[in-house]
Amino acid sequence: ARIDDLLASGRTVSFEFPPPKTPEALVTFDETMEDLAQLGPQFISVTYGALGTTRDTTRDVVIRVDKERDFPAMPHLTCVGHTRAELEELVTHYRDAGIENILALAGDPPADGSEAGGDFTYATELIELVREVGDFSVGVAAFPEMHPRSPHRDDDLRFLAAKLAQADFAITQFFWDPADYVSMVEDLSARGCDKPIVPGVMPFTSVAGVRRMSGMNGSAIPASLEARLDRVDGDKEATRALGVEVASEVGAALLEAGVPGMHLYTMNRAASVRQVCANLGLLRDAGPPSD
Ligand code: FAD
Repeated sequence: ARIDDLLASGRTVSFEFPPPKTPEALVTFDETMEDLAQLGPQFISVTYGALGTTRDTTRDVVIRVDKERDFPAMPHLTCVGHTRAELEELVTHYRDAGIENILALAGDPPADGSEAGGDFTYATELIELVREVGDFSVGVAAFPEMHPRSPHRDDDLRFLAAKLAQADFAITQFFWDPADYVSMVEDLSARGCDKPIVPGVMPFTSVAGVRRMSGMNGSAIPASLEARLDRVDGDKEATRALGVEVASEVGAALLEAGVPGMHLYTMNRAASVRQVCANLGLLRDAGPPSD
């Protein structure tokens, strides 16, 4: 199924998985997938290691899950550091394997500040290539608090609106203040862009992790959340429970705002995602809500 069609026919719930990099991780991936598949998501996605480090793994698990399950699996694909020929080959492989959806991303340049090389700079260039290769439903990334490399919010929104004109839908980075998502959608709409923007929601499981990832992604942690993080720091189970609680609060505000879908970052852990779905009354058989 195409994700643009799914979004057109009702609110979606989707799960994002990191690709399994070791045989042990593959076992966890399959167990988590089996567990979360019971909830009946509309689609799942699998991320792509920066600069192609998981190219074959992402490809192989996406194609397998897409065949095995009754919901589509969408690969993330980044273009920075790749040649045109490499990407054309991979996208053609996806097309021939029956994959109908691709999340087209720029990707980050090398962390050490060196040049990525390759033939591409922006996600828009990858969208063009994907459109040339096949009739895919194409998603892109959106950053409610603007992309960390963007100098100005206005530029960020202008580039995002132009990117969305070429794409079918967007999935957002996670964020802690639902108002950031709402104002981005309003600003895009004022620019004539009404493509579905699916918010990304992350039930965090580690205090250090959430601080590090929020810093990297430019997602500001409100003072109230900082205080709640301080209170659970060092207690693994309390941290996990807080991650579920906060994701449920953000999710409830988003549902209230009338979002077209909800994309949950699973980080290969089923329990938190199940609880968030149960708390929000999303999907089937999510189990009893957590208190
Ligand atoms: P772009 O849309 O190309 O934008 C990048 C920057 O360039 C922005 O600042 C934008 O404003 C600016 N820009 C765009 N067009 C122009 C132009 N014409 N001229 C000047 N500036 C311009 N990374 C991974 O490595 N693997 C993944 O699987 C992955 N999955 C992701 C999933 C989601 C939902 C999100 C939100 C992000 C994901 N990322 C992933 C991270 C992403 O690759 C990085 O954030 C990357 O730096 C930006 O990608 P983009 O597609 O948003 O880039």
